[in-house]
Amino acid sequence: MRKKKVEVEDDDVATLWGGVYEAMVGVYEAIVLGLMHGSDKYHVLGNWNDIWKAQAPHKARHLLWRLCIGCLPTRSQLLERRVECTLNCLVCDEEIEDELHIFFRCVVARDSWSVTGLSSVLHNATYQQTNAMNCIFAVCGNESSDTVGRGAILLWCIWHNRNDKLWNDNVRLPRQIGRHAFDAWNDWYSVHKLQSNNVSGTTEADLVRWEKPALDWVKCNVDVAFVSGSGRTSMGLCFRNSSGHFMAGMTQWQQTVISSVEGEAWTLLLAMEEARHRGLDRVQFESDSKALIEAIHMKRSGNSEFLSIVHDILSLMSSFMNFEVKFVRRQTNLVAHTLARAANSWASFHRFENIPFCIERLVFNEMQ
Ligand SMILES: [Zn+2]
Repeated sequence: MRKKKVEVEDDDVATLWGGVYEAMVGVYEAIVLGLMHGSDKYHVLGNWNDIWKAQAPHKARHLLWRLCIGCLPTRSQLLERRVECTLNCLVCDEEIEDELHIFFRCVVARDSWSVTGLSSVLHNATYQQTNAMNCIFAVCGNESSDTVGRGAILLWCIWHNRNDKLWNDNVRLPRQIGRHAFDAWNDWYSVHKLQSNNVSGTTEADLVRWEKPALDWVKCNVDVAFVSGSGRTSMGLCFRNSSGHFMAGMTQWQQTVISSVEGEAWTLLLAMEEARHRGLDRVQFESDSKALIEAIHMKRSGNSEFLSIVHDILSLMSSFMNFEVKFVRRQTNLVAHTLARAANSWASFHRFENIPFCIERLVFNEMQ
């Protein structure tokens, strides 16, 4: 087949098959639509709704849909339609290129899944199906719409990469494909979220990744823990640089039980003092206490113990213009959380210059 330089940015090679292929797709889609609205015999096709609910750009959901109705021109599909071509996977050249292989089994695809942070989905026993359609329906039926959305974008990126190889001879590494999918989803999600700002945040709960700070910035996660029965309040904090590397950490515990917001505020204040002590001046502090972050942003004042700590935080921030505070979900604050839980293992005040074992794996995973 003669190759020519083509743009495959927004869709796949289907367009290149010209009117005939488009017509074929159209017929397929019409048939499936007919079935969807037709007799009960095909009621199982009701699952299609899960695809449209995916939190992802339309092009990604559309790809899922076409994949499920058998409309992607993979080599095995083409052969079935008597189009002459070799059968081997374009990307790895090792196995027959069908949907299951391209998106789930190919070594490049598998590595891309893990870069995007979705390997637990890929390896979930429930999703080990004999064809791609069943696999996608299983994922769509079980996972949150955010996870499905991220998966959909990843599949789109894998397909895009495959076509880019076919038509332009561009080869990308799984690291690049996975990263592209990850960024594309986050970009889309943040814009989408801005547009529907008033829809309250159930989907936010699934935005589970810790993010590296920008270049020349440091990120500090803080958390407090109340280990039941110990009568202690303990806290943990962790500084990481823009490549996600551990820089320093600290734990502290005291033999009193204070309120949770007070503990959160106190930990943040401690973290800011530690940052100052270390000469760090561009720091993004992250806490999973919404009440605390709101109180700071609103510059709330009052007589409570909590608000007096907030006051101290604000006055420290006024002399460090590049101290920022941000609310994050608990899932993205696991490193600080783990440190706080482990604080009891050390003296009541402990500084770490090397990464402690209990968070090694977490930090490493979050660097990916
Ligand atoms: Zn392959």
